Amino acid sequence: AEYQTKTYWLTEDIVKKLLPKRRQDSHKGSYGTGIIVGGSKGMSGAVILAANAALRTGIGLLYTLVDRELVNIIENSSYESITLEIEENLDKIKPYLDKAQTLLIGPGFSTENREELLIYILKKFTGKTIIDGDGLNLLARIKDYSLIRENHILTPHPKEMSRLTGLTLEEILKDPINITREYSKQYGCTIVLKGSTTCIGTKGGEIYLNTTGNNGLATGGSGDVLGGIILGLLAQGLGVEEGANLGVYLHGKAADIIAEEKGYFSLLPRDLPKGLPLAIKTLY
Ligand code: AMP
Ligand code: MG
Repeated sequence: AEYQTKTYWLTEDIVKKLLPKRRQDSHKGSYGTGIIVGGSKGMSGAVILAANAALRTGIGLLYTLVDRELVNIIENSSYESITLEIEENLDKIKPYLDKAQTLLIGPGFSTENREELLIYILKKFTGKTIIDGDGLNLLARIKDYSLIRENHILTPHPKEMSRLTGLTLEEILKDPINITREYSKQYGCTIVLKGSTTCIGTKGGEIYLNTTGNNGLATGGSGDVLGGIILGLLAQGLGVEEGANLGVYLHGKAADIIAEEKGYFSLLPRDLPKGLPLAIKTLY
């Protein structure tokens, strides 16, 4: 009975109220600063996708923090973001983190020799944080869940959720709602369990179910775009629960708008930021 009263469908009415306000009398400082830590050899695209998504969502200023060998490719692909290099000496990273109010860590990050860096960043950065992809895989390996705080959003797909919780994929898919609820409460954070229906759990035990989106999203890279969208919303002042809800809705809505024209087969993650302007427009 309790769970039924705390489970909601994410409707247009609900998400409409969450859209950040934009004022004529404003500047880039008004819309927040974000930093994306991710990418690795062969996976620079994840950072580019996330960066463009954050920018199309309205973030004021965006940094990316990547390995030296990735700096040039990010520079050439994302004009509006500022690229920083991951230094060997961890203490040199602290000033980079201090530039931003919000963090997305994990897209395309790789799990090779990254434990120390992830722990350092999660300990030093105290702002709103989205942990995605290999960030979650590293957490699952480190198994120090005290690194997770209430201003964190975890965005696992079911396999990452399985690594994180130790449950089997089958157990998760059999009861995604209650599993999401249980672990959001246990970790004391927001969890976005991604799927064709995405399940968003809050630390208070509420569940929001999102049904925007379509099978055109079933391509590697879609999740990186979602992380970027949520980062953009958090930077503009939304709380983690609001940002997760609105971000998941807009990500799916952008996919639905693009699919109207292009169909489901050819939709690519890189197309999603192009659908964002119209997706956002449906809400105001
Ligand atoms: P990832 O696995 O990290 O790339 O994330 C995939 C993203 O695409 C998540 O936001 C999923 O919810 C979404 N997605 C994948 N397949 C579908 C589908 N069939 N219907 C709706 N959304 C989907
Ligand atoms: Mg992913």
